[in-house]
Amino acid sequence: MTAAPVVGVLALQGDVREHVAALTACGALPRPVRRPAELDGLAGLVIPGGESTTIDKLARAFDLREPLVAALRAGLPAFGSCAGMIMLADRLVDAPADQQTFGGLDVTVRRNAFGRQTDSFEADLDSGWPAGGAFRAVFIRAPEVVGCGPDVEVLASVPRPDGARHVVAVRQGNLLATAFHPEMGGDPRVHAAFVALARAAG
Ligand code: GLN
Repeated sequence: MTAAPVVGVLALQGDVREHVAALTACGALPRPVRRPAELDGLAGLVIPGGESTTIDKLARAFDLREPLVAALRAGLPAFGSCAGMIMLADRLVDAPADQQTFGGLDVTVRRNAFGRQTDSFEADLDSGWPAGGAFRAVFIRAPEVVGCGPDVEVLASVPRPDGARHVVAVRQGNLLATAFHPEMGGDPRVHAAFVALARAAG
């Protein structure tokens, strides 16, 4: 058994504590990241749910944006949940004109895609991912993926009332993103998949 991988959790805003607990449960060593130096030596980085416009502003204010983008471009494995998915997207719909993302995922993401009437809900993922039986996903003011580039793998979706599907989990290389919050609900399989991805990349 190799040493526990050090996995950062971007700790500017959002549900940092829940990701720290989930990573610990998966055998990783979590490290809150607020400063550029805290990116050094990471096997992976989790970008938590919260409010993407706030995470964007704070990343710029803390001079974290540029080194973080550089680390992602250099191949740092990252997992974005909800607002974190928004931050990894190359393109946004329904976002303020001045909102910036870190990017890296060749997807178009629509913010608050499930509307005000359904602020939060739970649904089973449809695809058999992650392996090991049905996964109950928690959605809170969630985004959805409305467009994917050719290198993006759709991992999971949930049904829409009109019979179409909302794409809610994707992977491209070392980047994983979910529109839902796997850190809530106590099922560690998504974090375990990300820790395995980070180990394999290292
Ligand atoms: N709607 C939020 C945003 O745009 C994301 C919500 C969440 O992370 N739970 O950032």
